[in-house]
Amino acid sequence: MPLFLWMMPLDPQSPQPPELVWSALEAQNSRSYRPVPLTAVTITDSFWEPHIRVNREQTLPHVYRLCKETGRIDAFKLDWKPGVEPVPHIFWVSDVAKWVEAASYSLATHPDPALDALLDETIDLVVGKRVLLDAVCRYVDYIDTVFGTQPGKKRGYPGHEEIELALVKLYQVTGEKRYLRLSQYFVDERGHQPHYFDMEARLRGEDPKIFWAKTYEYNQSHLLVREQSEVVGHAVRAMYLYSAMADLARELGDYTLLQACTRLWNHLCAKRMYITGGIGSSWQNEGLTRDYDLPNESAYAEACAAIGLILWSHRMLQLDCDGRYTDVLERVLYNGMLSGVSLDGHKFFYENPLASPGNHHRQEWYDCACCPPNIARLLASLGQYIYACNDTEVVVHLYIQSSVRLALDGREITVRQETTYPWDGMITIQLGMDESTVFGLNLRIPGWCRTARLSVNGDALDLTEHITKGYARVERLWHPGDQVVLALDMPVERAYAHPDVRQDTGCVALQRGPLVYCLEAVDHTVPLHRIVLPRTADLASHFEPGVLGGIVVITGSAQAAGDTDWEGMLYRSWPATAYPCTITAIPYYAWENRTPGEMRIWLQAEK
Ligand SMILES: [Zn+2]
Repeated sequence: MPLFLWMMPLDPQSPQPPELVWSALEAQNSRSYRPVPLTAVTITDSFWEPHIRVNREQTLPHVYRLCKETGRIDAFKLDWKPGVEPVPHIFWVSDVAKWVEAASYSLATHPDPALDALLDETIDLVVGKRVLLDAVCRYVDYIDTVFGTQPGKKRGYPGHEEIELALVKLYQVTGEKRYLRLSQYFVDERGHQPHYFDMEARLRGEDPKIFWAKTYEYNQSHLLVREQSEVVGHAVRAMYLYSAMADLARELGDYTLLQACTRLWNHLCAKRMYITGGIGSSWQNEGLTRDYDLPNESAYAEACAAIGLILWSHRMLQLDCDGRYTDVLERVLYNGMLSGVSLDGHKFFYENPLASPGNHHRQEWYDCACCPPNIARLLASLGQYIYACNDTEVVVHLYIQSSVRLALDGREITVRQETTYPWDGMITIQLGMDESTVFGLNLRIPGWCRTARLSVNGDALDLTEHITKGYARVERLWHPGDQVVLALDMPVERAYAHPDVRQDTGCVALQRGPLVYCLEAVDHTVPLHRIVLPRTADLASHFEPGVLGGIVVITGSAQAAGDTDWEGMLYRSWPATAYPCTITAIPYYAWENRTPGEMRIWLQAEK
């Protein structure tokens, strides 16, 4: 049954006649699946399990301790003493909320009495003996009395989008349609003229023109959301808004919201996303600038924006099972998100640049501390991104060694995935069920992969007959114990940027599988900016178990510009002499975990 069959027109003034909305989305919806809850998934992956364990054992206690030390936890006691106790950053509530969510996800898959007690203690501070959900509902009920189109309410909406997607979640948990309506109101009202933030500024006695960012593109309220086609402004705000738009498109069957999401998605991925999946190239607005403006050393690429892009990608994937969404989700997950936390789980990047002269380091904490608990939350909830299903189909989005229990129209299916991805592209999938059953098994063929082979119980299949939108689909009568093997060739690849990315002109990057690689000074005897990668340089890869927790490194021969004959000159009329050198590249996510120094993703390419 199409998910949109139960669409409910909540707003009688909806611009789209409901039947039109439904039919358009029904056509789109033939490839719509529901995500599998993380509690149904057991991750045993050699790549991700250590990160998740460090997150559980190190990062969650660390973030709690810093929230406590900086006054964020005790602020809930409402007895803060100005001038005596530290003043938490204005977003302190959100930091604690993200930690509570991260701890809750972790407890859902890994019971831990100590963490459970800490969570209870925090919740008690927030709401006394009442459960947190009741408190959240009461708070939202109050917000609902303040904002809306009804007489006496304010026609306002958030300056920092985030509550919109949370309201959809709250609706999904409680079934209370008012929460969905409130989310719909905040999204629909955004950008209406006269502009609410102008009116609010005048009420404060301010001239709206003095708004520091000078444009409401900053918080995506410059236009009605359905009229937006370019990803602009503060990157994290944008990602949370678009995530909510995708949620509402799905919940309400709103085709115009889906169209806006698709337009924005296409713009971001074609013109404004880093190769790491990071987004937001400027620190000035913590966000987007111009098309193809992707500086490397000064890249902002906030960890929260990367996480926001994962959230949005995941929601787009639920609207349309298209591998281009999963490719971006995976790119961010393995690169621009994972770089945000040190391997020991105690230090965090707020900004994730693609090059550094050696002065950019992770920190234990930040005054505005959104990123550390956000990373903890994402890692603790990784299980929900791997699989999806509907009543007749099973989908494997990500290759992460794990097992999952799925209910297909009342039939229980177990999928067990064995792999050492992302180090190797061999994936074995074992199916378990009580009796033979017919369903479609959809396996993602990643966009980075040029050659893949698929076999069922040892019989090779012609993949070209099975692939739709980046997924190989095999429908048959499956038997208990059936085995599917997918082999993804994973050679070292060179990557080049669009010619209009001026910061990457004449440069090349290295990738292998989903991982983007970088060079670090600690592995080299010459400054990295002097290295030129020849077109024909052989690039080899091998696993180094003792380096950075165990990684595949890429090695090769290159050329480096020499400085021995410059004799104090800054400029001269002939170029530097080149001499041979070797390079060792490591996965970008693992940089800045050894001796600090220069780092580069984009290397000079031989002309
Ligand atoms: Zn952040």
